[in-house]
Amino acid sequence: MLKRDIISRVMNLYLHFPFCQQKCFYCDFVSLGHQEHLIGEYCDALSKEIVIYGEKFGKLKLETIYLGGGTPSLVETANLEKVFTALHQNFQITPQTEITIEANPDSVSKTKLQAYLKMGINRLSMGVQAWQNDLLKLIGRTYQIEVLLQAYQWAREVGFTNINLDLIFALPTQTKAQWQESLTQVIALKPEHIACYSLEWDNNSIFAHQLRRGKMRTAPDTLDRQMYHLACKQLAQAGYEQYEISNFAKAGFACKHNADFWAGKDYLGLGVAAASKIGNRVFENQKNLKLYCSQLNIGKLSITQTETLNAEEELTNRIALALRTNAGVPQKLLKKEKLEKLVAQKLLKKETDFVVLTSKGRDLLNQITLELLG
Ligand code: SF4
Repeated sequence: MLKRDIISRVMNLYLHFPFCQQKCFYCDFVSLGHQEHLIGEYCDALSKEIVIYGEKFGKLKLETIYLGGGTPSLVETANLEKVFTALHQNFQITPQTEITIEANPDSVSKTKLQAYLKMGINRLSMGVQAWQNDLLKLIGRTYQIEVLLQAYQWAREVGFTNINLDLIFALPTQTKAQWQESLTQVIALKPEHIACYSLEWDNNSIFAHQLRRGKMRTAPDTLDRQMYHLACKQLAQAGYEQYEISNFAKAGFACKHNADFWAGKDYLGLGVAAASKIGNRVFENQKNLKLYCSQLNIGKLSITQTETLNAEEELTNRIALALRTNAGVPQKLLKKEKLEKLVAQKLLKKETDFVVLTSKGRDLLNQITLELLG
């Protein structure tokens, strides 16, 4: 990867922290439970990767930084500070740079939250998932809702003014009333941003194993859709604008990092298993943490997969991502016949030069994407 590959002098940066207290039962992300003793070594390797890219690209200006995982809030402040020192020495970070950290309620403290702000982190994204303690336990979350309330209060007290809370619906055994309560309680906290995801039965999750063995049942599709519609309605009434299938924000608080991703902009992913896209090249880091660290320790990047997309593949990706958003897809990118058919079926609607999903279309995103790209 050479400097000339950088099309823009501005970059979105993702940093992956693959550590969790324990694995949630629905989770298929690259994350390890009970491996906190490796965090120091990992942050050293990550800092080395930051230095390598800093030297390769010059001091690129960062539009956004997203600390995701895993659970970045499990990392002790001293290790996080090491990573931020490397970032400041190798990239341009300005007061406008959106810097998000993902956190779980039981791995933050008031002191940690204060330290985040001091490091320049200006957006906090916390996983709530459900409001009922029995449901949290059932899905393998390690905290009770009282802990979330405390963490949220600390975040406000120390001065966070941009907070996202995540919720999941269509959880096993979850009733409509429980989902309604989760939405109502989270809205009452007045976060700037709320994300609502339908539970995914990812292949390697504990739930997916149980499903294959007949020990678990998915929620009926009709219930899943009813819960989604309830979220869209209730969040709209509370003043949250839906700017993507699963994301809702108060005016001015859409997540820049994700919006740039859906707009097809470049991003650099650092850390184990992190993916990047620069121009038409997509590449991914080593998934094995030990191998990732040992490569960086001898001064080498740990990229295992690289692909160069042709024009058609790039266009396909661009359409699939843009379709998820309120901004929509430029009409000129779509085949007229297919577009008109979906408009006639009231699954898409035209808005000036763009085309966006209707509310009926949002329920059938995968089908519409296949139809448009097939
Ligand atoms: S869902 Fe999040 S907190 Fe739970 S195991 Fe996966 S990465 Fe960790």
